[in-house]
Amino acid sequence: MPSGSGQNPSTLAWDQGAVWHPYTQMLNAPPPLPIARGEGAWLIAEDGRRYLDAIASWWVTLHGHAEPAIVNAIARQAEALEQVIFAGCTHRPAAELAARLTEILPAGLSRVFYSDNGSTAVEVALKLALQYWRLRQEPARTRFVTLEHAYHGDTAAAMSVSEPSYFTAAFEPLLFSVLRAPAAYCYRCPVGLRRESCNIDCLAPLETLLAANAGQIAAVLVEPLLQGAGGMIVHPREFLTGVRRLCDQYGVLLIADEVLTGFGRTGAMFACELAGIAPDIICLSKGLTGGFLPMAATVATEAIYQAFLSPDRGRAFFHGHSFTANPLGCAAALASLQIFHDEPVLRRVGQIGAIHQERLRALRGHARVGDFRRIGAVAAVELKQDQYDYLSDCAPRLRQYYLDRGVLLRPLGNVIYVLPPYRITDGELHQVWDVITQSLDWLD
Ligand code: PMP
Repeated sequence: MPSGSGQNPSTLAWDQGAVWHPYTQMLNAPPPLPIARGEGAWLIAEDGRRYLDAIASWWVTLHGHAEPAIVNAIARQAEALEQVIFAGCTHRPAAELAARLTEILPAGLSRVFYSDNGSTAVEVALKLALQYWRLRQEPARTRFVTLEHAYHGDTAAAMSVSEPSYFTAAFEPLLFSVLRAPAAYCYRCPVGLRRESCNIDCLAPLETLLAANAGQIAAVLVEPLLQGAGGMIVHPREFLTGVRRLCDQYGVLLIADEVLTGFGRTGAMFACELAGIAPDIICLSKGLTGGFLPMAATVATEAIYQAFLSPDRGRAFFHGHSFTANPLGCAAALASLQIFHDEPVLRRVGQIGAIHQERLRALRGHARVGDFRRIGAVAAVELKQDQYDYLSDCAPRLRQYYLDRGVLLRPLGNVIYVLPPYRITDGELHQVWDVITQSLDWLD
């Protein structure tokens, strides 16, 4: 455990200050934590202090840091082939990974398009949907419907389909307009009802939008069951089932952004499974490689793929990043999926969820707690506040409080959440909840 000094090391011989870090250019921001190593659920700093990574390093670390099987797979692949252009060339890891993914994904998703991060996975999905309708001779279908509180990434189109926020405000001139429907944020119900007695009435505005813009909508885009950066908002399964039903009824594509929710986080391999639905396009990244390398996959149905098949070169999907299907990323992803095959990973997710549930239950009625939510291995505590506020200053104060006690947590405004790597032990997870519980009494 660290000594609890309240200070992170501020000067490091090797840091000449040339790095521009994301999100932290406040003059009084604490310096970044210099991390030297990772091991299981732990991050080990340059000075030897150990921190429990309770947020899986921006939600990517799936099993654990430095997971040996993935380390070895990457090393072996690097010795054989580190990278090759993926336009006109292919390689076994890419083909094997695509085959494995299509086996485990919800039914019907059969064509895997690789890119390199969550935002590009979403950009690819949007572009595929637009071009699909154009190829189908319905070029008027150019609009997207997205949900309130959505977050889909930091590139221009991904920002456009996200909730307008501090993340997007400065870039307004770059963004295109979208149609927005309410999300099933039950704690702050958009239609003023209570879950116990409602009939998922928050779906009605989506239906109104789809009816009013018939023939103009390309796709509805959702983060299925769990909206991440918007505040770890968990939706009832019936909401997602209803979105799928409405997409079918109005003949529009459904895109599921499972960049966060994929690979077991919600208790099933993919969140869509929990609602018994399959989207037309799914976006995967973050945990895809076990959290080792930047890589993404956008997977579409056969019907979408077939629309692009033509002797006419001009109908091809013109999108390709330098690192498309990087062999190291594919090898890491295959090794991660092998762990799912060899070990009861989803059972472990269930055990993590049970501990979350027990610790959340103990917080019920706490004066500071407005709401708590959980799905699979993800748990969140929303502190009482008039509205969700990302820049709420309790977040940096809490972050430092947790670091001083050896836990890396990074509240989203007034929402404290736990999203650990699956290798975290029961004892380590209780340690995380102990500091969260103490922090609620420490806050003034
Ligand atoms: N979609 C979702 C649901 C996400 O949570 C994120 C990242 N937090 C992204 C897309 C963007 O992913 P990336 O940061 O890898 O671009």
